Amino acid sequence: MKIADKIKKLKQEKNAVILAHNYQLPEIQDIADFVGDSLGLSIEASRTNADIIVFCGVHFMAETAKILSPRKKVLLPDINAGCPMADMIDAESLKALQASHPDAVTLCYVNTSAAVKAQCDYCCTSSNALKMAQHILLSHEEIIFVPDKYLAQYVSAQIRQDFITWEGYCPTHARILPENIIQAKRLHPQAKVLVHPECKPDLTGLADLVASTEKMCGYVQNTPETEFIIGTEIGIIHRLKKENPGKNFYPATDKAVCPNMKRINLEKVLWSLEDLSYEITVPPNIMDKARLPIERMLQTT
Ligand code: SF4
Repeated sequence: MKIADKIKKLKQEKNAVILAHNYQLPEIQDIADFVGDSLGLSIEASRTNADIIVFCGVHFMAETAKILSPRKKVLLPDINAGCPMADMIDAESLKALQASHPDAVTLCYVNTSAAVKAQCDYCCTSSNALKMAQHILLSHEEIIFVPDKYLAQYVSAQIRQDFITWEGYCPTHARILPENIIQAKRLHPQAKVLVHPECKPDLTGLADLVASTEKMCGYVQNTPETEFIIGTEIGIIHRLKKENPGKNFYPATDKAVCPNMKRINLEKVLWSLEDLSYEITVPPNIMDKARLPIERMLQTT
């Protein structure tokens, strides 16, 4: 029996659901019940009737799914699949920053640990960061925006409001350079340039559309345009091609590969289902505090 068939059989026997992030390997996306961004996957996790969630993504995503679905067993097939950006800030450092800005409200990107989320007032994703910042500014003047300095800079420029930021960034998106876009545009002059807001400002400045992966997928499906230069992790191209046969996608650079996202393969998904590993847990005191900023986000957007 093929590995994919074994996974399918075991998944049914154990009443499990497989969720895969847009940056996962093609073969993982193909066996998943749902493919999406971190927020979409967590919402899906909270709605499922399955007893077990196999989360093919990175650690903070599985944690978020656990926070939103505390009674379900959440498994991460590779316990070392972390997010370097999320690891750039910890709860103690954030507390120190907050102490020096006592009137500021803290908005954290979903790419943070549960312990950091527990220290925050609001959470956001790359899809709703702008909306969340605007919402907070209706009642507050100062925002601490952590950990992604480039996402913060992008939102800040849109709404002309400075934030107190953190020196965090995504090493994968930082590998995409302006010259990559210029070169790709030379080769494909008709192509629309889609860039993720985790990229540096000199890159977002060259984009026709700056958007989260979900918004990129929606844009591509609804536009008559047929050629696209993709300025984000290249895993998304598998989904874009699948959903849009006949349209053409060019990675801005083939260096935009997140090694953590690629740690999960079919064997690890199978072992995860066989051994119920690696189970993601969040201490109860952190779980409840971390749920609050996420719920505020879900209520606002
Ligand atoms: S692509 Fe960047 S932000 Fe996403 S998991 Fe990888 S390192 Fe983290």
